[in-house]
Amino acid sequence: MKRVIIVGGGYGGIKALETLAKAKLDLEILLIDKNSFHYIQTESYNFVISSFSLKEITLSLNHLVQGIGVNAVFINDEAITVDNSTLICKKGIYTFDYLIIATGTVTKKPKIFDNFLDVKDLQQATVIKQRFEKLVLEHLQKKRNCSNIAVAGGGSSGIEIAASMQYFINELKLNSEISVTVIADLFLSELDEKSKKRVIDILGDLGLNLKQCLIDKIQGNTIFIKDEKIIYDLGVAATGLDTNSFIKNLPFKKSNGFLVTDEYLRVSDNIFAAGDCAVMKDKNGKILPPTAQIAEQSGTAAAKNVICSIKHRPLKKSDLKIYGLAIALGGKFAIIKAGFFQFDGILAYLGKKAIENYYKIPLKMKEVF
Ligand SMILES: Cc1cc2nc3c(=O)[nH]c(=O)nc-3n(C[C@H](O)[C@H](O)[C@H](O)COP(=O)(O)OP(=O)(O)OC[C@H]3O[C@@H](n4cnc5c(N)ncnc54)[C@H](O)[C@@H]3O)c2cc1C
Repeated sequence: MKRVIIVGGGYGGIKALETLAKAKLDLEILLIDKNSFHYIQTESYNFVISSFSLKEITLSLNHLVQGIGVNAVFINDEAITVDNSTLICKKGIYTFDYLIIATGTVTKKPKIFDNFLDVKDLQQATVIKQRFEKLVLEHLQKKRNCSNIAVAGGGSSGIEIAASMQYFINELKLNSEISVTVIADLFLSELDEKSKKRVIDILGDLGLNLKQCLIDKIQGNTIFIKDEKIIYDLGVAATGLDTNSFIKNLPFKKSNGFLVTDEYLRVSDNIFAAGDCAVMKDKNGKILPPTAQIAEQSGTAAAKNVICSIKHRPLKKSDLKIYGLAIALGGKFAIIKAGFFQFDGILAYLGKKAIENYYKIPLKMKEVF
């Protein structure tokens, strides 16, 4: 019986597991993750403003694995490195015939952002939620005159967090007391100029402050930009992505620290990579942005190639595609851009909710208790 290990139970790892389980081969599948839960980080913008609880953005990996595959086992351990066909973790050493690496990324936080928190780490997202709630409560109790929340990073995740906070503040009529400022050298570079302008107009109407510039330094609770100083009470970093120490330890080819795969998603003969931890490309070689949809597609494609290898069939070239972008813009507002289609407002919000539920509900149903 062949043993396949998937390391990382995020979007890519779960899809790889589902694909392998469906193949009904005589396999032993181990899913290894340093956390005991799958974190639905695409909905963290709802969590930090307390619209969602922990229950809504996490799934027990142990229960999920039991629901997905009879021949699959979950192991709560942290991978350190790989040596030939052995995965070395903190608590144990596991041999494999095939390995799929899907350990995602961490927020790239230069030293000046040491006091900033980020949502990619659920523990830090929980601190953001608590500090945000406390800040809002102190304003409701009239214990504070004015406060500022600073979000560093103008990509879609920074914008989603900032917009949801601003909307929450507006709903409580605290917008003259609490401001939310997004500071970035670039805003929404994933969108074309027309969509970007539309989003920036919507965010302006919401009352969000957008500062397009580089941060010179941060000292204590003061951010220095150009000729201006911004005092902040809560800092959120959405400052790009970096690989974690496991990926850094691996002896495979990398580009800017991210794994480089071949067109079959292999980093070596029997080791595949999926999701944000690797450079993902479309079939024309164009680099794709790190998103859950690409992580899912690559998880499926990597697992299919493991199956082909086991069956001694030719591997299939991966054909990864971005189908569109959906960005939450606070409250019941969002923008969806899919090919030539672009729409915003409540319809886009409903579309985004549908995409999120299409992912989450089937997984929730698979959790075995
Ligand atoms: C606020 C926000 C909003 C987003 N919105 C969207 C969106 O609307 N649409 C979209 O497509 N994408 C969105 N994304 C991006 C999306 O979340 C990521 O692209 C996706 O999570 C990548 O999936 P992954 O499987 O590669 O990694 P992850 O989902 O990060 O999973 C990695 C897993 O590996 C585990 N792990 C890490 N290191 C180790 C180790 N050494 N040993 C064992 N386990 C390990 C982690 O615990 C984790 O479970 C958003 C991201 C954020 C932060």
